[in-house]
Amino acid sequence: MEDLKGKTAVITGSTSGIGLHFAQGLASKGVNVMLNGFGDADEIEKERAGIEEKFGVKAAYNGADMTKPAEIADLIKETKSTFGSLDILVNNAGIQKVSPIEEFPDDKWDAIIAINLSSSFHTIKHAVPIMKEQGSGRIINLASVHGLVASPFKSAYVAAKHGVIGLTKTVALEVAEHGITCNAICPGYVETPLVQNQIADTAKARGMTEEEVKKNVMLEAQPSKEFITYSQLNGLLFYLCSEAGSGANGASFNIDGGWVAK
Ligand code: NAD
Repeated sequence: MEDLKGKTAVITGSTSGIGLHFAQGLASKGVNVMLNGFGDADEIEKERAGIEEKFGVKAAYNGADMTKPAEIADLIKETKSTFGSLDILVNNAGIQKVSPIEEFPDDKWDAIIAINLSSSFHTIKHAVPIMKEQGSGRIINLASVHGLVASPFKSAYVAAKHGVIGLTKTVALEVAEHGITCNAICPGYVETPLVQNQIADTAKARGMTEEEVKKNVMLEAQPSKEFITYSQLNGLLFYLCSEAGSGANGASFNIDGGWVAK
């Protein structure tokens, strides 16, 4: 993976879970990273400084809110002005809400569509001119198994993630002749803070205990009966970002322990 050294990446939602591990993983390959996401300012600074110290790369932070198009535009601009290029864009920020559709709160629908789908439109819109000028770039969108199949009680999430896959294909066609690729990663369940939070909601919606949700709902869907790990996801990310991955475009890669094979 020597070909990633010295490249620059912006990873939305990289203060927690998958995004944080993507940022650390890319930094471990010598990539300078722009972090983004919410959280305690001291904790975020600790992560940022820790990445610089551990991996010897530059790490910066921009707290753009993924529901605010003007802040998203600034995030992309600032990445280019801080590092001098923008080689890798990872659209990872996301939230979840589990509720039957007849009770699904309107504001949660809007927030999920904004953060999980529209923010990727805005980042890509501003990143593509920079990547076209460079003649190279990698766009990786975090969809989900729920971009390929549905589960009950996740109407907004499933709609947004199916939208991400449509956006991925469309962008791939538009950038294909510019040395840029756009692909989607579709994980099954990864035990991140996002998943830990939805265990309680799912238990309520289905009238189960939290242990029953983990065993009979989450890992029931995943034939491997194992959560997907951060390092399994990082392996795919590194491939998509590398020269070896340059032939993959507009594709959706599921890492789901066999879920979608059923
Ligand atoms: P997480 O809750 O651990 O992290 C989400 C990140 O997004 C955090 O850094 C948070 O601060 C950030 N974020 C939330 N709202 C934001 C906003 N308005 N503006 C900027 N940042 C915001 O979640 P995760 O499980 O690591 O999920 C990351 C991505 O992976 C999401 O897109 C999620 O849908 C997807 N995914 C997760 C799983 C899973 O099982 N965990 C499975 C498939 C797909």
